[in-house]
Amino acid sequence: MLTRRAFSMAGLGLVATATTSSRRARADMARGSAFEIVKSDAEWKQALTADQYIVLRQHGTERAGTSPLDKTYAPGEYRCAGCGLPLFSSRTKYDSGTGWPSFSAPLDKAVATSTDTKLVYERTEVHCRRCGGHLGHVFDDGPAPTGKRYCINGVALAFAPKPAP
Ligand code: FE
Repeated sequence: MLTRRAFSMAGLGLVATATTSSRRARADMARGSAFEIVKSDAEWKQALTADQYIVLRQHGTERAGTSPLDKTYAPGEYRCAGCGLPLFSSRTKYDSGTGWPSFSAPLDKAVATSTDTKLVYERTEVHCRRCGGHLGHVFDDGPAPTGKRYCINGVALAFAPKPAP
C-alpha cells in the first residue's frame, strides 16, 4: 500500500509530466511545427511499452548493446516504433561499435532534428518527422559519403524485413 507521501509524490509526477508535455506542445505550435500525429501523454503511455515510452516520449536512452537491432544487418526497413513511419533503410546501416544501431543517413523526409542541451556539450537530437518521437542523436563522425552517424535507440525502431523476391 502506498504511504501518503509516496502517493502525493506519484501525483506530483503525473502533474509534472503533463505540464512538461503541454509546454512542449505549445512550443511546437509557436514554432509552427506541430506534428502530424499528436497524442496525449496518457495515449502514448497506453500505446507504447514502458521502454518505448521512456525513449520516444521522454528522451530516454537505452543501455548500449541491449538492442537486438544493433547487430541486425538483414535487408529491410526500420520504422518508427511510435507511428510506423519508415525512417531508415538497412542499406545505410553500419557497425559503429557504439552498441547502438547506427545509420549513415535517414530515408527522405523521415526525421527532423533539434538542439539538445541536456549534457554540457550540445548534441543534435533526431526525432520522427511525423509523431515527434525521440529517436537518438546525429554526430559528424560517420562513414562516407555523408560523414554522419545517426545513433539511434533500437527500442524506438521496429524492423520490417524485406520479403524474399
Ligand atoms: Fe513516429
